[in-house]
Amino acid sequence: MTFNDLNLIEPILRAIEKEGYTEPTPIQEEAIPVLLDGKDVLGSAQTGTGKTAAFAIPILQVLNKQGQTQNRKKIQSLILTPTRELAMQIKESFRAYGQFLSLKTVVIFGGVSQKSQVQAMARGVDILVATPGRLLDLINQKIIDISQVKFLVLDEADRMLDMGFIKDVQKIIAFVPKERQTMLFSATMPADIQKLANAVLRNPVRIAITPVETTVEAITQSLYYVSRKNKTNLLLKILENKNYTSVLVFSRTKHGANKIAKDLRIAHIPTLEIHGNKSQGARTEALYQFKSNQVRVLVATDIAARGLDIEGLSLVVQYDLPDVPETYIHRIGRTGRAGLDGIAIAFCQQEEFSLLKAIHKHLKMQIPLVTDQPYHDAIVGLDMPSSVSKAPVQKPKNFSKFDTRNKSKHEYHSSKTNRFN
Ligand code: AMP
Repeated sequence: MTFNDLNLIEPILRAIEKEGYTEPTPIQEEAIPVLLDGKDVLGSAQTGTGKTAAFAIPILQVLNKQGQTQNRKKIQSLILTPTRELAMQIKESFRAYGQFLSLKTVVIFGGVSQKSQVQAMARGVDILVATPGRLLDLINQKIIDISQVKFLVLDEADRMLDMGFIKDVQKIIAFVPKERQTMLFSATMPADIQKLANAVLRNPVRIAITPVETTVEAITQSLYYVSRKNKTNLLLKILENKNYTSVLVFSRTKHGANKIAKDLRIAHIPTLEIHGNKSQGARTEALYQFKSNQVRVLVATDIAARGLDIEGLSLVVQYDLPDVPETYIHRIGRTGRAGLDGIAIAFCQQEEFSLLKAIHKHLKMQIPLVTDQPYHDAIVGLDMPSSVSKAPVQKPKNFSKFDTRNKSKHEYHSSKTNRFN
């Protein structure tokens, strides 16, 4: 199937072509006709499946048609999403696919001054992308009116639940007219999300895109047993492989993310960190630098990284294992995207065994263990997974132990290095 088979208008087809997409992804193939037909959608799909375009394209097409006659520059479409980064990405997608239309998209989120957002609203908005807290705040201040909304999208609904936004989301929905078209997307469908879906959707068409298979097939996963104190040394050893040009490292805590990033910078590896304690400006800048390959490594906590569209990642490292097994899959989904093969490495220390067991149970497989590595730490109490022969990290020929203070061994030649000194 091509985009030409989806009954899209010429300016949208032109924008899609400009983005370089040749054919729709499975969720786009399924969702676009259903949404153009005016139906509600319940989508189980995570980031990386092309779900943003799956809802943005039909919304743009319908609003463009209606907008020529009615309600110009009143908020007609509202997209709720859990994080600021995701909100900005969605706005960018609307702008990209709608670049040849005259619809206006604005994004609002918390953590920054509301002034410029309020000014942007005052100039008129067709499509509003928002995080729930700030939106509710502005609705209560009577700055934003969502009583004309025709399209409501709840994106990453499970994450909004995890982050405690569901009450705010419910309050916001109460301000939206009942006569509307609603789309709910969620990577997982726990009971609370099902309940929300039942309350907000009308006879939805269910679309399930399960990326797990792709994940398992397209991503080389491996597991490293390593003590807490050697995790950074092991990471540095892995990063000696210069083929890993774009590396996302997951840390359990904000403090841990700061520490890892600092140690990598000491080792002259251009690294930035992204987490909830960073200002919005710092997060945006870090993401920009990472995406534009100015920094090689981005260290992130789950909340900061959730839903981020980071293309072409060569490696994902789980420095700490996640508490929730599903998160393991979300994290590795960052590599091997859009049909590319990816590599995902997980570190596990003794104290994380129970987490690893839960992950193995969830995956219904064991992540291949790499024992042929300098910091291998024998672990007690777990059924040993079998070794992998093709370890992404080769044992160095003349291995000598090093620590992160020994800069000379970890010179990373980059013109950008200076900024980290
Ligand atoms: P999403 O799941 O919406 O976060 O999209 C994941 C990535 O896929 C983004 O970088 C999109 O730009 C890209 N993408 C979306 N649709 C297509 C398509 N039809 N062909 C190729 N890439 C796409």
